[in-house]
Amino acid sequence: MKRIAIVGGGIAGLSAAFVLEKCRRVEGEAFEYVVFESHAQFGGVIRTDQLDGYQLEGGPDSFLTEKPWASDLCRELGLGDRLIGSNDSERKTYILVNGKLVEIPDGLMFMIPTEILPTLFSPLFSISTKIRMTREWFHPPRHADRDENVAAFVERHYGPEMVDRLADPLLCGVYGGHANQLSVRAVLPRFAEMEAKYGSLGRAMVRARREMGSKARSYPLFTSLLNGMQQMVDSLVARLSPGSLAPGITIQSVDRAKGGWQISARGWCARFDAIILAVPSHVAGALLQSVNAQLAHELRAIRHTSSVAIHLGYGPPVRDGIPPGFGFLVPRSQGRRIVACTFMHTKFPHRAPADRALLRCFTTRPADRAAEEISDEQMVKMVRHELREILGLTREPLFSRVYRWDRAMPQYEVGHLERLGRIEELGSRTSGLFLAGNAYRGIGVPDCVRSGSEAATSALNFLGITGTQASACEPVGRPHAPRLY
Ligand SMILES: Cc1cc2nc3c(=O)[nH]c(=O)nc-3n(C[C@H](O)[C@H](O)[C@H](O)COP(=O)(O)OP(=O)(O)OC[C@H]3O[C@@H](n4cnc5c(N)ncnc54)[C@H](O)[C@@H]3O)c2cc1C
Repeated sequence: MKRIAIVGGGIAGLSAAFVLEKCRRVEGEAFEYVVFESHAQFGGVIRTDQLDGYQLEGGPDSFLTEKPWASDLCRELGLGDRLIGSNDSERKTYILVNGKLVEIPDGLMFMIPTEILPTLFSPLFSISTKIRMTREWFHPPRHADRDENVAAFVERHYGPEMVDRLADPLLCGVYGGHANQLSVRAVLPRFAEMEAKYGSLGRAMVRARREMGSKARSYPLFTSLLNGMQQMVDSLVARLSPGSLAPGITIQSVDRAKGGWQISARGWCARFDAIILAVPSHVAGALLQSVNAQLAHELRAIRHTSSVAIHLGYGPPVRDGIPPGFGFLVPRSQGRRIVACTFMHTKFPHRAPADRALLRCFTTRPADRAAEEISDEQMVKMVRHELREILGLTREPLFSRVYRWDRAMPQYEVGHLERLGRIEELGSRTSGLFLAGNAYRGIGVPDCVRSGSEAATSALNFLGITGTQASACEPVGRPHAPRLY
């Protein structure tokens, strides 16, 4: 019987397992699979805790509705009626500028102004940035012959203030990264395409919106699950055969063996015909060192940053004093340790009791090792100190909880797509090896679902298990043109 190993039980590994499980139900005993996960609990960075009526999301709190793969998977798992949209009627985000929260004006799509008046009257930008925004409208098409960083790209269009006040804080929120390192082609491919075709991003965006017409977005920006993101993980695990789950096992080495693979954990090893590595790419690189040093080098070269999420829950009077909206972002130039704060009680109101407030702050800074070195207590103290200055929040929280994710956020730096090309080429020459997860073509939960599903389908094809009822073996989700943010 053919055997497939999945190393890593985060959402990518579990999505791969789900495709294999569905296929196994059709193919019977034709093959078996095992999911190895270091921790006792599956889900990787997806973790929800319920605490006295508050719902805490230690990792992702939602996913982009526009990318269908996660919600399609939830529906397939029978969770369709548990899917909820963000409370977009109160969607408003602030930027901290010189100690004050300034609202991001209406009509800004990421950082592209599509409505003139709200941007012109916004105190978020200086006169010189507003003049640049007007001049941007006349930029001619430009075909860049090589990749560049997001900061340089945005600065070319709108100047350095736009980088500091919007592009960098927004990207820091998604990637925990730095606009002057992240690749525009990997992170903002649509913008690179718009520049090549129209020159001006503003003109391109207005045109795209006009073409969309009535098809323009009528759904909430973010989707989550009523009982929290972990509901997706728990439902996936419940659908897999218990005998295929191996929690609490850290794979220590991976080697070629008799045309297949030998994987080893402490005091144990086993042979498999195909292997799906759904671990962070730095772990995949370390595991593959003796198999293919060049591939291992490329995988390890994808840098990762760490992230710390601090939750603070407050009693009744505090909520009224917190501004309306989803939260605020803090530009690097403001010299704070908090980089973002989400007002969870507004974004998804059921996550806190009706009269209570729940704040989630991030302190990620690339290369900010100090964030990982201070204790939880010090971390909470530091965040409370800054919230006092920013929001005037002096009350003691009812509780606090800190989640730390070490080297969990891959950085799609300049040259990322070229590196992926080399990884895919080297990987294709290593038969029976498949890679999945957030380090490659999309960091968000939907892309990880897609990536795991595709890796599982490729592994089945490699083993010649296409099934008589192919539809049951197809990856979750719809056909797509891969897009990154
Ligand atoms: C704080 C935070 C907030 C985020 N917010 C959002 C959000 O709001 N929306 C969104 O779409 N995305 C968000 N993301 C991104 C998204 O959640 C992740 O990119 C995605 O969940 C990663 O899934 P994965 O399966 O690729 O990796 P992981 O979740 O990292 O899973 C990898 C698994 O491999 C296991 N493993 C590692 N080494 C071994 C080994 N040697 N042997 C066995 N197992 C091993 C690990 O224990 C882990 O469980 C967020 C990420 C973080 C950290």
